[in-house]
Amino acid sequence: MLHSRRALTLRFDLPISKTREFWDSLRDGKFVTTKCTECGNVCFPPQSDCPKCMGSEHEWVDLGREATLVTSTLPSVRPPSFSSGDPYTIAIGEFPGGVKVLAWLEGAERGAKPGTKLRIEARVSSEGNPFYVFVRA
Ligand SMILES: [Zn+2]
Repeated sequence: MLHSRRALTLRFDLPISKTREFWDSLRDGKFVTTKCTECGNVCFPPQSDCPKCMGSEHEWVDLGREATLVTSTLPSVRPPSFSSGDPYTIAIGEFPGGVKVLAWLEGAERGAKPGTKLRIEARVSSEGNPFYVFVRA
């Protein structure tokens, strides 16, 4: 077996045409997702086709910005593409209505207590791409 220690640069493009409403709303400070108009299933991340009934009609619903921490972890082993950055905490927050969202919890810490009130906020990466994080409410 031969091994190489050369670093690879990864570049990828994510198509967002079917979820553009989400990204535009995020820029406006709103956190929205899709609700299937056929079966009522609310999904996150937004889905152009319902994973429950395979329907392709949906409406956009506002999840609000307040959530409750379900669980979190501070990874001690990070994937190579994140290993050079600062430590980060991954959290699952539950919004009213039961939709759960996976996002980073700003400010790396171990042992954030489930039940902690969170707020989702929009950020822009150094590359100019929008993303979202949880912060303590
Ligand atoms: Zn459906």
